[in-house]
Amino acid sequence: MSADPGRLTIAEARDGLAAGAFSAVELTRAHLDAMERARDLNAFIIETPEVALARAAESDARRAGGEVLRSLDGIPIAVKDLFCTEGVQTTAASHILEGFVPTYESTVTARLRAAGAVMLGKTNLDEFAMGSSNITSFFGPVKNPWGPRNGRDLVPGGSSGGSAAAVAGRLCLAATGTDTGGSIRQPASFCGIVGLKPTYGRCSRWGIVAFASSLDQAGPMARTVRDAAIMLTAMCGHDPKDSTSAPVDVPDFEAAALTPDVRGLKVGIPREYRMESMAGEIEQVWRQGEEWLRAQGAETVEVSLPHTRYALATYYIIAPAEASSNLARYDGVRFGLRVPGATLEELYMNTRGEGFGAEVRRRVLIGTYVLSAGYYDAYYLKAQKVRALIAKDFARAFEQIDVILTPTAPSDAFAIGEKADDPITMYLNDVFTVPTSLAGLPGISVPAGLSARGLPLGLQLVGRPFDEATVLRVAAALEQAAGFEAKPVLR
Ligand code: GLN
Repeated sequence: MSADPGRLTIAEARDGLAAGAFSAVELTRAHLDAMERARDLNAFIIETPEVALARAAESDARRAGGEVLRSLDGIPIAVKDLFCTEGVQTTAASHILEGFVPTYESTVTARLRAAGAVMLGKTNLDEFAMGSSNITSFFGPVKNPWGPRNGRDLVPGGSSGGSAAAVAGRLCLAATGTDTGGSIRQPASFCGIVGLKPTYGRCSRWGIVAFASSLDQAGPMARTVRDAAIMLTAMCGHDPKDSTSAPVDVPDFEAAALTPDVRGLKVGIPREYRMESMAGEIEQVWRQGEEWLRAQGAETVEVSLPHTRYALATYYIIAPAEASSNLARYDGVRFGLRVPGATLEELYMNTRGEGFGAEVRRRVLIGTYVLSAGYYDAYYLKAQKVRALIAKDFARAFEQIDVILTPTAPSDAFAIGEKADDPITMYLNDVFTVPTSLAGLPGISVPAGLSARGLPLGLQLVGRPFDEATVLRVAAALEQAAGFEAKPVLR
């Protein structure tokens, strides 16, 4: 076996390292070279070759010394630049965090490091994870490695667009993402990879730059369901530093991913997701997914999630409300950028005016508005009530089914610049992912086929709270049936 990064999954790299086919340093170097060749994708905000090579050498030393090896020992991964990393700049793709070097490490990345993973760099994203196309980054858009089409570069999706492009472009074996309303699943769909948003509370939020705290979840992005499972096991677990972290056991997710057995399972097909405007090819891949699961012995059942049509409106009140509160801390005094002014108030205004991009300012405005006296009851409180109804829809459906199957996104990857000046059209991207986030449920996107333009299309599976194991099991069955090959070649 060679250290050709274009060929390996995590599971294979693990075997190769164990067999001595290559060292962690060799594997890491191969990925650093691939990153260098693919710089035009703009997938990384910062590359950290010194950190990577040092950690790879440590891993090799552990192996040579016969030390008990860890689950990701020597595996090169990328980290979304929303996770605080000790001593390595963390920007959230915002100008306002320029120069911010955390003195601490997020729990998720600390766990990955403890598992032996090698960090190659920090990936690009939409500013503060607000977006679906990675075009709001202060560091410029990311290109989807499947593009271009008709002479135009394509978005990788967002907000975890850099992670998705890096995994699809074979610049790393896996990456971390975060998902508030679809930011792991939608870019996974656009880039033809697997992306899993765990149950709210499964992964610690400690040390992740906050967007909307009641929705944010970290999760893995990888090229196979099995790799996503391996990553998830390393990433999650109870963390006393996050009061919303769930004190639940971490099952052997890899074992679940290795059991693609769906016999006797009931798969719900939500009636309300068959929207009139749905593109023919999305509908087709969805029906194909149903057939694949039926052919393997699952039963498909139509279910109703009646409050689906309020989900986007609800999300786009709650997420900005929480964002406006979370982002109040960037005032030019404590973190990153400072633009001076004659008075303290002017310093706040100058810093925030210059430091935040247009989409972030839009969200802070909406959030402040819906939380203000007089509007709180009409918008925020109402949205919270609708959120409860949406969660109840799912709870009721899960009384009769084990998992839900839907498309991940309403389209394939679009061109960079498309939808850019029409926020509402952009927000519609999240129509299938947002309800799950509001309900706090686990969801995965699995590559299922190609659109007429030859671009990846994902299918989403949603499970009961903390039942990632079933989600992974069904995802593995879908993956097997789809026989989808993650294709993008290194440029
Ligand atoms: N696209 C959604 C938004 O813009 C979701 C982003 C996310 O999940 N971080 O808010």
